[in-house]
Amino acid sequence: QEDALYSIIILGASGDLAKKKIYPVLWSLFRDDLLPKNTSFVGYARSKLSIDDLRKSFQANCKIMKGEEEKFFAFIKNNLYISGSYDSSEDFKRLNESLNEREAKTNAGNRVFYLSLPPFVFDTATQHIRENCWGKTGWNRIVLEKPFGHDLESSRKLATHLNSLFTEEEIYRIDHYLGKELVQNLITLRFANRIFNPAWNNHNVASVMITFKEPIGTQGRGGYFDEYGIIRDIIQNHLMQIFCLAAMEKPVSLNAEDIRDEKVRVLRRIAPATIENSVFGQYLGNPTGKTEDEKMGYLDDPTVPKGSVTPTFAALVLKIDNERWEGVPWILRAGKALNERKAEIRVQFKKPDGDIMPGTGAKRDELVIRFQPNEAIYLKMMTKTPNSHFGMEETELDMTYSKRYEGVVLAEAYQLLFLEILRGRQIHFVRNDELEETWRIFTPLLHQIENEKVKPIDYEFGSRGPRDADRLLAENNFIYTGTYKWPGPSK
Ligand code: NAP
Ligand code: NAP
Repeated sequence: QEDALYSIIILGASGDLAKKKIYPVLWSLFRDDLLPKNTSFVGYARSKLSIDDLRKSFQANCKIMKGEEEKFFAFIKNNLYISGSYDSSEDFKRLNESLNEREAKTNAGNRVFYLSLPPFVFDTATQHIRENCWGKTGWNRIVLEKPFGHDLESSRKLATHLNSLFTEEEIYRIDHYLGKELVQNLITLRFANRIFNPAWNNHNVASVMITFKEPIGTQGRGGYFDEYGIIRDIIQNHLMQIFCLAAMEKPVSLNAEDIRDEKVRVLRRIAPATIENSVFGQYLGNPTGKTEDEKMGYLDDPTVPKGSVTPTFAALVLKIDNERWEGVPWILRAGKALNERKAEIRVQFKKPDGDIMPGTGAKRDELVIRFQPNEAIYLKMMTKTPNSHFGMEETELDMTYSKRYEGVVLAEAYQLLFLEILRGRQIHFVRNDELEETWRIFTPLLHQIENEKVKPIDYEFGSRGPRDADRLLAENNFIYTGTYKWPGPSK
């Protein structure tokens, strides 16, 4: 609608996420004229801040280029900040009045409420938003950040609360992995290509591995991490979202509900993760490390409780009990303080039947989709060694984004997600029943390792994680040969 007004209300505007991500992303969208023209930004938090204080909190993260100063000034002019607490009707009424005032000129005032708040204030804040700030002339959307509970029971409790206030269509649960270009590409790759879909099953696939690795430790902020651990921080949400898109059946259409229905259907065919099929690790400092972070083990972080058994690394195996995937292990691995930063999926294919070249050392084909960094899709395969009789070797079909899309800057996950929220498209957001299913899969394991204080295996900062994880891969039909050599990007 031409005269519609949009207000993006950031609750917790004084916080870390707001200054690191939300404001810088809003600025970048504003700078590139990607937001509707009548959009304003309303910060809300308890801290008493002037607009200038607010600007100072995030400007350094905004990448303002020469010549963009005026536009940045215009962006700041579209900002408002209201100081108020999260449990006061009066304060929320003030917020509402100020939104109403701005919307007086229109009969379509649309509101996005972005909760950038610690989870223990979700309940009261959402209650007050619904009671005191729900716009009457346009749509209202509520955006939530993880954690969505810490197990099945607490997640259900949050869901019951949210469902008593909002419809599912009004709720946008962010998993920023769903905003990543290559995660979104999984649907295209699988369903827009004849070659992949027919091979995407237990007749052809031996095993699948989804990996997240980061080369940094807790950097003195382990107190937060310790309450969650690597399964809640990475696996139950980000890796499971990748898992769903890689494992689900073809959706009936590209509508959000059709896609999310398929994600839930595949999740429902997975038995809970077990301790027998898992390996947990916790990092030790590396005395020869270059930085203080590298020298510090997890338990050396003063904010981590003494003797904590929280895993900073986990590898575990899930099996999907359906016609397509029965018998294929899906290995999920995630860890901090490892040797590199990467997130990827590897699909290993079985060797061909009726091998007419036995004894030639043919290796499995392996499709690798690297979500970050250096986005790439490559298929490792066997080809004839040039000029030989029937000698063969491992080579690849290689689609490296920086080469194929030279000069194209891939949008940041949060940029894409913001635009989707404004468009009202929920494909890349997590529906409540997906959340419920992923918690069902991990809650028994989480409770068991917490109740029994299962001790994780030590690994050194900067290593590939505990050796036992490689054993788990080998036992689950994931073969690493170490024979593949990549010549580097072609010229
Ligand atoms: P934060 O900085 O700890 O908190 C955001 C704001 O909430 C604070 O500026 C503070 O504002 C208010 N707040 C803090 N503690 C409070 C308390 N005890 N009672 C009432 N208000 C309190 O949080 P954040 O790191 O920005 O994260 C916000 C949300 O995003 C959380 O749900 C978090 O799990 C999620 N998240 C964060 C990141 C990240 O990189 N930071 C990444 C992924 C997800 P006032 O005191 O001014 O009211
Ligand atoms: P690879 O050398 O066969 O390694 C596959 C994976 O096995 C490794 O990434 C490693 O990952 C894991 N691994 C290493 N040692 C292991 C062990 N002892 N047991 C079990 N697993 C082990 O093939 P690749 O990694 O696919 O490719 C080799 C290099 O070429 C990589 O640096 C890759 O980025 C590069 N390459 C890049 C492109 C491109 O950019 N387009 C294309 C092709 C190849 P974990 O440490 O995660 O376990």
